[in-house]
Amino acid sequence: MPENTTTTTETSVPFLRSAVTSQAVEEHIVHLLGTKTEVPFLLAGHFAPDDARATPLVDSLAWTGAGSLHPFNAKPLIQVNLEGDERVLFMAYDRVVCVDNAECTRCDQVWWHFQLEVNEVPDGASISGLLDAGLPGPVVVEASDLPPEAFEESDDSNTEEAK
Ligand SMILES: [Zn+2]
Repeated sequence: MPENTTTTTETSVPFLRSAVTSQAVEEHIVHLLGTKTEVPFLLAGHFAPDDARATPLVDSLAWTGAGSLHPFNAKPLIQVNLEGDERVLFMAYDRVVCVDNAECTRCDQVWWHFQLEVNEVPDGASISGLLDAGLPGPVVVEASDLPPEAFEESDDSNTEEAK
């Protein structure tokens, strides 16, 4: 196969790194805006990962520009409405893939990034959560982006209530 357009043969995925070029970001977002998309394993904690419902379809998405960045991984944010969900969610631009990702060189590797994440967590656990970051809707955060203390079961151990 004389396909030499991809220069990256390393295990890392260029547009999953934080140091992405704005051109790569824009290309990815333009691709997503022009196709039917879904959010891989966003609801994996609620449904089995191989259940189609674990990967919700996107009803609409919007990009407000390079100014708004993810609070943890500093990737440009896109605004997403899921099908059957009234909320406006914000997520890193590469949290979304086209539904034809298995055939898409751009999205296939993004899908696999999340597939590997979900393979690593126990059944019933999520790889993503929602966080209120002061935006008009919650932000999707990846467990892998969170500082270790975020995994403590409760905040009680850190909260000293002087009574
Ligand atoms: Zn794609």
